[in-house]
Amino acid sequence: MPEPTPMMKQYLSVKDQYRDSLLLFRLGDFYELFNEDAITAAKVLEIALTSRDKNSPNPIPMCGVPYHSARSYIAKLIDHGFKVAICEQMENPREVKGMVKREVVRVITPGTLIDDFGMEDGESNFILAMIKNKHTVEVSYADISTGEIFAFSTQNEGDLKSEIETIGAKEIVVTEDSVYLIKDIYQDPPLYTVFNSDEDRAYDYEESVNEHTAITLLLNYIRAQNMRDLEHLKTVQKHQLSSFMKLNYAAVSNLELLENIQTKKVKGSLFWYLNKTETPMGKRRLRQLIERPLVSIKEIENRQSIVTTLIDNFSEREVITQILNQVYDIERLVGRLAFNNIDVKDFVQLRDSLSGLPELKSTLEQIDLTSNDLFKNFDDLTDVYSHLEVLTDEPPKTIREGKIFKDGVSEELDKLRDISNNARNWLNNYLESERERTGIKNLKIGFNKVFGYYLEISKGQAVNFDADKFDYNRKQTLTNAERFITPDLKEMESKILTAEDDSVMLEYKMFTELRNHMMTYISRLQKTASQISILDTLIAFAHVSNNHHLVKPEFTKERVIELKEARHPIVERMLNESTYVPNDLTMSEDSYVYLITGPNMSGKSTYMRQVALIIIMAQIGMRVPAKSAKLPIFDAIYTRIGASDDLSSGKSTFMIEMMEANTALQEATEHSLLIFDEIGRGTSTYDGMALARAMLKYIHDDIGAFTLFSTHYHELTALDQELSGLENVHVKATEYNGQLVFLHKVKPGAVEKSYGIHVARLADLPQAVTDMAADYLSGYEEGNHQKSSQFETMQLELPLDDQEASSFEERQIIDEIKNINLNDLTPLEALNRLADLQKRM
Ligand code: ADP
Repeated sequence: MPEPTPMMKQYLSVKDQYRDSLLLFRLGDFYELFNEDAITAAKVLEIALTSRDKNSPNPIPMCGVPYHSARSYIAKLIDHGFKVAICEQMENPREVKGMVKREVVRVITPGTLIDDFGMEDGESNFILAMIKNKHTVEVSYADISTGEIFAFSTQNEGDLKSEIETIGAKEIVVTEDSVYLIKDIYQDPPLYTVFNSDEDRAYDYEESVNEHTAITLLLNYIRAQNMRDLEHLKTVQKHQLSSFMKLNYAAVSNLELLENIQTKKVKGSLFWYLNKTETPMGKRRLRQLIERPLVSIKEIENRQSIVTTLIDNFSEREVITQILNQVYDIERLVGRLAFNNIDVKDFVQLRDSLSGLPELKSTLEQIDLTSNDLFKNFDDLTDVYSHLEVLTDEPPKTIREGKIFKDGVSEELDKLRDISNNARNWLNNYLESERERTGIKNLKIGFNKVFGYYLEISKGQAVNFDADKFDYNRKQTLTNAERFITPDLKEMESKILTAEDDSVMLEYKMFTELRNHMMTYISRLQKTASQISILDTLIAFAHVSNNHHLVKPEFTKERVIELKEARHPIVERMLNESTYVPNDLTMSEDSYVYLITGPNMSGKSTYMRQVALIIIMAQIGMRVPAKSAKLPIFDAIYTRIGASDDLSSGKSTFMIEMMEANTALQEATEHSLLIFDEIGRGTSTYDGMALARAMLKYIHDDIGAFTLFSTHYHELTALDQELSGLENVHVKATEYNGQLVFLHKVKPGAVEKSYGIHVARLADLPQAVTDMAADYLSGYEEGNHQKSSQFETMQLELPLDDQEASSFEERQIIDEIKNINLNDLTPLEALNRLADLQKRM
């Protein structure tokens, strides 16, 4: 191998420190990648792969992206889950001899984005650190683009998994001994890094925050990526798991809280239904509110009361909405400010966002919302605004081209600007006088980069022009004109250019001073931004409540649910409100498990989901789609609904069904809501029926959770004899002229008839098939008693009580002992077998 060039040596030594990143190495106007990095990046970015030294026997693979358009390429690499290390030239190549100093100034990763590298407006971009600490797992997570940072800890594996699923971090940081957590939690983890943090730095914590190891790990990692501290990531908030209703990933997706389960689009989700926010901050906040309904009646009622105020004061609400409409993403602007990455346009956006705040504040005062805890001490930031008033209304693209500040802001700047402005007059006058002096009427003045200001004479006139006589100095000959300079013109030119340079420099300096000064307002800006985001969300609540005939739910400490004429908010909207059939639901100590039967497509699933959505809407402080609603507070909602079957994950439908059911059965309490939609579908009939029955009994006897359980096993409806808290209901359908008509009405009792063949007719199956099926059905129905006796047999085999169960198991064990072939076993196997049998006794 030939000795690498000095440049390649420099490259290799930098690359050595950033092995897990793609290194973008600045060479003049390009970022270059070499070796493996080049091969990877060329493929992902679909750009040409070349080599540095084409003629050498081992050419070095290379590819590059232009500096000025690097942003979109970097975004693409990040989007593909890579880390990107940016290595800049730290010296001006023209000012140094030999090799320019180069350093990595920042590592960009999916979880540490600050600007618009492909980040969604209305979504948080979290990075999360977790660490196992004796018996608990500590977690801290932050959105660097906004500066929010949280921490929590838990001993409960289920809680940990469900929280982490909800947070949906883009990137994870762990220590060596906590890597296993990632494998426990994720099937398909996002980008993660094993990182060792040893420093202990002081941060501000809310009093209750003690997850210091996780926070330190997170902040140390973030600092290592950005090579600096971040002003806006300062106050860590406690994320108290017990303050929120538990909703795991299955529930969030099955209930379509954030996106439609089939289309994966926002349309058709609860978020879509509620999203009448005006700002990106409100949008992100709404998402958080939906993912984390409250459990404290006091907090819920506080939100409710604000929504009521906003509903009742229509004109003030309109004023606030108008003001919010002018508010940009203050949180992310502050993020850029903290990164020193903010430009004039951003500041102008910030200024325009703040301009309406005094009116916003006085409007809140008028309707007495400033006395509410959520909006107390609302800071309208008038002083901050006044610092930004100096900026022009038409911001330049960069901060190195002047025209940043308004006239009258700085005397010095005004003076410099006067020189340039006066110069223009001078140039006009000069042109006039030269026209007269030379007698050339179409004499022109122009400017170019090479030789500055010049006078131009057309070819025809130039032929007879005596340049020396007028002290003109010929500079350039074009096909139809000649260009000259004069001493007077040069003198003026240098004045103009110096003044322009000086004013650009001055504005740059003023801007950096302004930027540094604005940094001192970061935490005040963050606080107001946070209040605005809540206000925006609650305004949306008021707006939606008003437009869709919603009602304020009442909370009770009793174990009752009473919904009158409840609707599914989204199905109703999709259908057109007048055709939706409302339904009641009354659950109590005596009937807390609903066993729901009815033909396919009759509305069972819609009914169950509408109950869950109403509970969630109630606990986020919203009004609900019903005539009246009385509800207890729920600690969690667990779902097992067919549609989420994730075929791509490689697990069988039935396995997923059982895993989701397991989470529900393990974690639910008597204060939870369970929704089981057609459990057991994924296996054979008797298997499925037996499992469904055992689960119902377990839920009923051991958990006591409010439960909605739909089934197509009609045999299960007999359970109401055995389980006192179980009630049969069915969704009514009726036959009309041999066709099935869905009434979507939920009625007491079990359904009498299965309508499968009718649904098949509706689906336009060939008539020959449906007729044949009808024949077979009547055949089966004649032999019905045979079928029910089979069910009886199965019932006998199901362990009905503990005593029976243990004697059945013991009989099996005796049989197994009898059948052991001792010649086939090693002593160790025999011992294991014995231990196994003992465990089962
Ligand atoms: P099932 O779970 O019984 O198969 P779904 O709940 O999926 O049935 O409902 C099927 C369709 O019936 C829904 O997509 C909706 O269009 C309609 N539907 C359900 N409930 C109602 C209702 N209460 N009022 C009007 N239409 C309804």
